Amino acid sequence: METEPKNIHRQNIQRPVKQQALKALRPEKPFLIGVDSDGCVFDSMELKHKECFCPAFIDCFGFQAVGKPARETWEFVNLYSKTRGLNRFKAVVEAIRRLNERPEVRAGLGRVIATDELETWIASETRLSETVLGQYIQAHRNELQSDSILLQTLNWSIDVAEAVKKIIHDLPPIAEARTALEVLSADADCMVVSQTPCADLIREWNEHDITRFTRIIAGQEQGTKSEHLALAAGDKYAENHVLMIGDAPGDHQAAAENGFLFFPIVPGRERESWGELLNQGLPRLFEGRYAGAYQDSLLTAFHDSLPETPPWITHS
Ligand SMILES: [Mg+2]
Repeated sequence: METEPKNIHRQNIQRPVKQQALKALRPEKPFLIGVDSDGCVFDSMELKHKECFCPAFIDCFGFQAVGKPARETWEFVNLYSKTRGLNRFKAVVEAIRRLNERPEVRAGLGRVIATDELETWIASETRLSETVLGQYIQAHRNELQSDSILLQTLNWSIDVAEAVKKIIHDLPPIAEARTALEVLSADADCMVVSQTPCADLIREWNEHDITRFTRIIAGQEQGTKSEHLALAAGDKYAENHVLMIGDAPGDHQAAAENGFLFFPIVPGRERESWGELLNQGLPRLFEGRYAGAYQDSLLTAFHDSLPETPPWITHS
């Protein structure tokens, strides 16, 4: 039995909902708009990654001896490349893969780091959260070595959560994003589509009184972003009536996999992007002039803004 109310609306959300609540969402408006949180509504990516995720990454995985390339690699994977916005556990695998490729890191550590155990867990699960990882570790505790990457990853995630709680506050949403949320929620059901833990999302959205523009908040505990959109939208909305707003290629992918529209918030140009949404994107969406040439031009500019190749790889 589900205990969550079917329609969560215009109230301060206090608790995370179960994945089933997304499916139970009933349309109140003709459009559904999914909005990413970090790096999109909140200009929080630099602060979160540089002050919370990256220091814990260096500490918990023992990268002190290669601190400089470890920092550079973490920031490239999570802030300055096409993998920006990746789920935190997938980001660990990606960052370590790139670190293993760096000769100065292999020399500094005297080894490459195996990520097999972590990859096996990731492949087995779509709700990639700290709680689910803890349960998996508990179930496999007899097979794991004391230096298992799964234990390191759990400790890292716990440290990140503590740092986020301590450091990430008094960080208001981008002004144009707040305005856009207010405007779009008049004509669209709005939901948060994020890979951040729900407790952090609820705290951050409540702190700045913007939860009232949303119907539901979905984080890493409710599955992937693609799942959030698929479950909440179902076949409840007409074609070209579902839009995802995000700052990462993964946000675009989540929309594209479901055949939904996408509006990019370009990293480094967040305020201009929200302004574009207010002036052009939303009117076009509501008038049925969004898909096609307009969306294509936004997507081209967005994908051109994020590199694939790291700066430490030089082409001869
Ligand atoms: Mg984001």
